[in-house]
Amino acid sequence: MESEIQLKNEELLFLVACVCNFWSVCLCVCVWLEGRALKGGDGGGGGGGGGGGGMRTGGSWKCQLSRTMRLVLRWCRPHRAAHRGRVSQLWSYTKVMLKSLYYNSLTDSDTLFDCMFEPIYWIVDNITRWFGVVFVSLVVLLTSSVVIIIYLFVMPVILSTYPLYWSCWHLSCGHWLLLMVVFHYYKATTTTAGHPPKDKVHVPSVSMCKKCITPKPARTHHCSICSTCILKMDHHCPWLNNCVGHFNHRYFFSFCLYMTLGCVYCSISSRHLFLEAYDAVESYYQTPPPEFTFKETTAHKCIIFLWVLTSSVTVALGGLTLWHAVLITRGETSVERHINKKEIRRLQEKGRVFRNPYHHGGLNNWKLLFGVETRSHWLTRVLLPSAHPPKGDGIVWDCFFSRKDPMAI
Ligand SMILES: [Zn+2]
Ligand SMILES: [Zn+2]
Repeated sequence: MESEIQLKNEELLFLVACVCNFWSVCLCVCVWLEGRALKGGDGGGGGGGGGGGGMRTGGSWKCQLSRTMRLVLRWCRPHRAAHRGRVSQLWSYTKVMLKSLYYNSLTDSDTLFDCMFEPIYWIVDNITRWFGVVFVSLVVLLTSSVVIIIYLFVMPVILSTYPLYWSCWHLSCGHWLLLMVVFHYYKATTTTAGHPPKDKVHVPSVSMCKKCITPKPARTHHCSICSTCILKMDHHCPWLNNCVGHFNHRYFFSFCLYMTLGCVYCSISSRHLFLEAYDAVESYYQTPPPEFTFKETTAHKCIIFLWVLTSSVTVALGGLTLWHAVLITRGETSVERHINKKEIRRLQEKGRVFRNPYHHGGLNNWKLLFGVETRSHWLTRVLLPSAHPPKGDGIVWDCFFSRKDPMAI
């Protein structure tokens, strides 16, 4: 009701401003036209005599004013009905435009910006969707190349030079990491993140999705790249070409963790070989150049590629894994981090403290993510490949309070 009154006041002010501006512009134009007409008349009759100059000036001022008024009246009278029609039409268009922007109580500046940037979002979403396939192929290609280089050039050196116990440790550790990386990457890319049920009418929800026009359960967010709502959405990962949500969050995090550990293992194991290969490559430019076979030069280049790639991935993916570990410890997803930051600021202004309803304590959050219910699960569900589903359905959440005021998230 209050917003309707506000809208009417705004409409009235806008109408008054339009009318005032219109009349001011009309008057200015008329005065300018009349002035030009009189100047032209004076110039034409200049040879008539100079004696009556003072009289003519006073007369021309009055004449100019009366002619201007007459002109304004004459200009307005015949067109009045047409102008009124045009103004009312313009006003009705403006009203429709205003109402389309303020179509419901949830519309705010964010929605307006979303509408304005919709074409850019569309382009970015489509590019990300199509590049997802390229990124997945790149992950498979680079991981395969690293594995091949290790089997061809690193493993033979380890087996021939290291003591037996070190060789056994390298064989078991390397293959365990490879198994974990392949398993979790496969599961993270092929497992659906989870969507709210569309066939059920009564779904416990906190808001409505503006894009899907369906109820949104708690922690659910819309992914514009997948064009659907995702349960406990974390983010859309182009490297998986999939959304990270309730049903594949564990696979995503385990993949990041084991991939980082695998890269650390590769870069540490091959550091001596890398230094030797680097020295050898530098000696290529000596005169006379040292004699290396084709297999040796290929090995040098492959080992340098292996070390540079695994070290770079360790830094980049290690940072991402660390950030996700912090979020998991706090009981937040990447999307919730942004929302909670806003909530913390909003409640701080009111002198209140924000409390994350999905934070059950650091260790409990990790247990919930990995599905650890007994001690043996740390081995069978965390350190070994396991395809067990996560706890809960992703729709109803165990939290210490439930939001009473539905809001668009
Ligand atoms: Zn949606
Ligand atoms: Zn997505």
